[in-house]
Amino acid sequence: MPSASQLSEFALIKHIARRFGHHRAQTLVGIGDDCAVTTHNPKTIQLITTDLLIEDIHFDRRFISYRDIGYKAMIANLSDIAAMGGVPRQFLVSVALPAALTQSNLNSLYEGMMEPAKKFGATLIGGDTSSSTHKLFLSITLIGEVKPAHLIKRTGLSVGDEIFVTGTLGDSHAGLRILQSTIPTKIPPSSRKWLCQRHLRPSARLDVAQQLAKHKLATSMIDISDGLSGDLSHLCNANSVGATIDLNCLPLSSELRKYSHHANTHAHEIALHGGEDYELLFTVKPNSVPRIKRWNSRNILHATHIGTIMPQKQKLKVITQTGTTQIMPIKSFTHFPGK
Ligand code: ADP
Ligand code: MG
Repeated sequence: MPSASQLSEFALIKHIARRFGHHRAQTLVGIGDDCAVTTHNPKTIQLITTDLLIEDIHFDRRFISYRDIGYKAMIANLSDIAAMGGVPRQFLVSVALPAALTQSNLNSLYEGMMEPAKKFGATLIGGDTSSSTHKLFLSITLIGEVKPAHLIKRTGLSVGDEIFVTGTLGDSHAGLRILQSTIPTKIPPSSRKWLCQRHLRPSARLDVAQQLAKHKLATSMIDISDGLSGDLSHLCNANSVGATIDLNCLPLSSELRKYSHHANTHAHEIALHGGEDYELLFTVKPNSVPRIKRWNSRNILHATHIGTIMPQKQKLKVITQTGTTQIMPIKSFTHFPGK
């Protein structure tokens, strides 16, 4: 099998275009010209996001397959579009390929990206290709759209707004610790597998985000990529406010609880600081809380009320498990020192 870098750049791009570059009505010119040409609905505004992943900085090939690298890279971008209330449409992929990477590896990488992209309706319209001395570089640029009235930004909240998060927190970080660990553990295999999947194949909460956007319920939103404490502090800084989070309310999966029990760690701490869950953190007016709770009970979305926006002078605080109020420690459990 040829290594991907042995194929001429031209042959490689042709292969990618044939296999992965499907057209949509909005794409007038896809892969093959100097620029992609697209149209967009004049009633919407565009959202554009990009993310760069570098081998051994953002991912470690010992723990993650090419398919999952592609999958996760696409989720990171989809999650950014979700966090603004948008719908993903087109994407470009830039890769720098080490000589050892085979064509089959490249296919796996692209198949991983295509899986969530297809599910949410985003098509590949271009990119750039280079060789690389040793490491794989992967960058996705994703374009989405949103009606101006549905746009949800990080700013816009007020003191007194209530804070919610989707899904459960900390699973991805626990999954990473399991993947990195060389010590055998007593964590049940099904829990171990589930947590690892939450790390390798997180979800992008586009459905929840679009539901919030359509009903104009969220006064601000951010996706949790750096961990709750880190991203909440970004949100609060952007709005010059403080917040109180009740640690007793953090949504913890039963798998994270089992992991913490067996690994002798604190589930709440992992949920507060663990990164890469790609859940959404959003705020609503107090009078919208019953509506969110109703949607929860009808399974329209899964979101948990975890705290309240406070005046800036109050800073970020947590109510601990013993009921005391403390300043929130802000740290991110990052993967590698370089990140
Ligand atoms: P240029 O030199 O004009 O930038 P390229 O030879 O880099 O053109 O790219 C030719 C076409 O192939 C363009 O449409 C570009 O968007 C697309 N392309 C290049 N690399 C990739 C890639 N890795 N994935 C998807 N499309 C790509
Ligand atoms: Mg180019």
